[in-house]
Amino acid sequence: MINPLGLPVKSAYSIRVLPDIKSLNREEIEAQFKLWNEPAFRVAQLLDWLYARRATTWDAMSNLPKTLRAKLNENFSLQILELARKQGAGDTTQKFLWKLSDGAFIESVLIPANPALYGEASDRHTLCISTQVGCAYGCRFCASGLDGWKRNLGVHEIVEQILAVERWNATSSEFKVQGSELKSPATLNTESRTVNNIVVMGMGEPLANYDNLIKALKILNAPWGGGIGARRMTISTSGLAPQIRKLAVEPMQFRLAISLHGATDEVRNRIMPVNKKYPLHELTGACEDYQKVKGRMITLEYILIAGINDALDQTRPLALLAKKLYAKINLIPYNKVEGLPWVRPADEVCERFVAALEKLDVTATLRREKGGDIDAACGQLRLKTEREMLSHG
Ligand code: SAH
Ligand code: SF4
Repeated sequence: MINPLGLPVKSAYSIRVLPDIKSLNREEIEAQFKLWNEPAFRVAQLLDWLYARRATTWDAMSNLPKTLRAKLNENFSLQILELARKQGAGDTTQKFLWKLSDGAFIESVLIPANPALYGEASDRHTLCISTQVGCAYGCRFCASGLDGWKRNLGVHEIVEQILAVERWNATSSEFKVQGSELKSPATLNTESRTVNNIVVMGMGEPLANYDNLIKALKILNAPWGGGIGARRMTISTSGLAPQIRKLAVEPMQFRLAISLHGATDEVRNRIMPVNKKYPLHELTGACEDYQKVKGRMITLEYILIAGINDALDQTRPLALLAKKLYAKINLIPYNKVEGLPWVRPADEVCERFVAALEKLDVTATLRREKGGDIDAACGQLRLKTEREMLSHG
């Protein structure tokens, strides 16, 4: 709306969208506090409330003066993920469906006893997080892309997934993992947090929300923030070659997983439209660069889908790729998605596939899927909930 002088006027109905405090890094908060003439120690106190005590309201921050709390409240939001639904499997894998402030749903999955799939250490409390609402990449087998892409998650919405799960763990009587007590930042680190491994394998394509993802992971890594080691963070991508190159020059030592699912263009084209844009030679070129710069082992994810990519003729090109990229292979039997025709191969087929790869002298692990009974593959709980909501009007 423009007034007669040509100046914008605030409509009575306009809603001011405030930046969320958890989308700011320490330097940005320091700069803001300087403008407000607040002493530097107040920044440390605020960060303690946000990331160590996981505060949910400004009022809870009892050692901050009321005037500062009022200024914060006026200028920033403090959004908390609302638990809309939770499913826990027998093996204690817990799946969370969160409702965001605009009503959209995203998922996180807590996998407490994940045998060292992505790191050297045994990763006891791994959280799988989402980076977008929906996904634009439309891989044929995946629930996340079925209804398309809605929006990117903000930095705070990525960060909040870890804090919200920890809050739930600290108060829930049904399930506990270590590290649920409140800690001060001095003791808060990879070992002491409830969530001390992050896999970015939930809903969405993380590298399509690059800037927010990297900022969120830096906040989760910082000693004043999450304190979680970068080597305990794995980013999974369907194969965005230019962004993989960009990630290679980031100073942080994140782990990289590639959702390959096919060792030839012919197979990948059939199930992953992204392969038309970045075919295997481009993807592997970017991975080679990444590997050279980082000197770290890449993981190739390969879901086994009956009749699509489980024939033994895929094993040789797959092994060649793994050797070229100095990568290990994670084989994951497909998780059925309601409404899609794909099914997982019989156990013997999966075993034969992994045995053939081992013969070709590459490291391959067959994941006996955790959480299969709770729709743990990305996007499934959200899809189910949204469809139920539609059918109930
Ligand atoms: N968009 C990123 C990260 C999220 S998907 C990516 O594609 O890598 C995380 C992983 O789950 C990917 O490897 C994806 O291919 C896999 N996945 C998707 N649907 C699945 C299903 N139904 N069963 C098993 N794995 C699935
Ligand atoms: Fe998107 Fe990954 Fe699912 Fe493909 S597998 S549709 S990139 S979330």
